[in-house]
Amino acid sequence: MTEKDTMSERYDMPYGRQNIDEDDIRAVTDVLRSGWLTTGPKVEEFERKGSGLAGTRHAVAVNSGTAALHAAVHAVGIKPGDEVILSPMTFAATGNVIVHSGGVPVFADVDPDTLNIDPECVENKITPKTRAVIAVDYAGQMCDYRRLKEIARKRNLSLIADACHSFGGSMDGAPSGSCADISVFSFHPVKNITTGEGGMAVTDNAGFAERIKRFRNHGISMDASRRELADSWYYEIEEPGYNYRITDIQCALGISQLEKISGWIDERNRLAELYDGCLEGVDKVKPLARTPGVKHAYHLYVVRLTMEDCREIRPEIFRKMRRAGIGVNVHYIPVHYHPFYRKTFHTREGMCPAAEDAYERILTLPMFPGMQEKDVQRVCAALKEFVGK
Ligand SMILES: *Cc1c(COP(=O)(O)O)cnc(C)c1O
Repeated sequence: MTEKDTMSERYDMPYGRQNIDEDDIRAVTDVLRSGWLTTGPKVEEFERKGSGLAGTRHAVAVNSGTAALHAAVHAVGIKPGDEVILSPMTFAATGNVIVHSGGVPVFADVDPDTLNIDPECVENKITPKTRAVIAVDYAGQMCDYRRLKEIARKRNLSLIADACHSFGGSMDGAPSGSCADISVFSFHPVKNITTGEGGMAVTDNAGFAERIKRFRNHGISMDASRRELADSWYYEIEEPGYNYRITDIQCALGISQLEKISGWIDERNRLAELYDGCLEGVDKVKPLARTPGVKHAYHLYVVRLTMEDCREIRPEIFRKMRRAGIGVNVHYIPVHYHPFYRKTFHTREGMCPAAEDAYERILTLPMFPGMQEKDVQRVCAALKEFVGK
């Protein structure tokens, strides 16, 4: 949804939205009274709790999911000319950060039933220049990290998880964030918890964590040998970084939101079950497949339309749903379709057939904690009517 859509149309039911209660508001106002506004004790506490949930040794909080992705790509050492394999079914940020590091994005196709990157397609795209793979946990369901890790280890590649959708989920008991060399979360208001804007990178590798911390703060070194000079003006830039710092105000909100995440994930799963039930037997609408052993975080509830002529019909259904006040969306325009990627990397239609076919068929239906059973029924009734059931 562009900003313009948001202003010109009002949906009484958006595809996703934040949930803010009085505890969240109190957490933020307490920080405002505390004297610390930016990098202070709340950042550290949020990082400690974030790595606790993700099951990793380290966490670094930054001011967006995009910043966390950029820092991750930097930390694994992507340099100009390095190829990075990624899924095209993602927000453009996943590809853009590769470009910011001078890397070359290489798109590998997805599994048509989950829209997660297909490990076999990843293997087929590996060249001597490949340095890393970025997997995206589409809609909140974790990728096949067992296979992806095997491939990465065998070919000496770094594995990054864009886990912006799956925060709070798990797979065979392994929490989202614990299955790649570095995993990245977003806390934008539509995501599973929010800090307004914000993100986090989690890892078991102390070197990566240190490098991400430095990148967050202009590249200023926190080398232990310099600690003795803590009382002086001295610091060193080892490599140029950015200002990707998150504030204590945001982290206080994040800490308060974290208390509620497991209940919210359960609620999202209940809503998904209601959707699955309402859409059962509707042969023109098919929910995405669930992988056995996955605790889905259901950031998004996505269905596919099964008609032959989706290219014509889907836009019509989309418009009718929006006019009915239901804020459906499409996640995503395959990244390799964007003009920048076509012009710069000569990407084109036909490169990722499963992602491209899915793109013509998918529709994201509203899903957020606080949504009621009658809301799900209303969405499904409208959808059934418009697909002509
Ligand atoms: C939201 C999102 C991002 C970017 O996160 P921001 O916090 O908005 O910068 C990146 N990748 C995916 C898959 C996302 O959903």
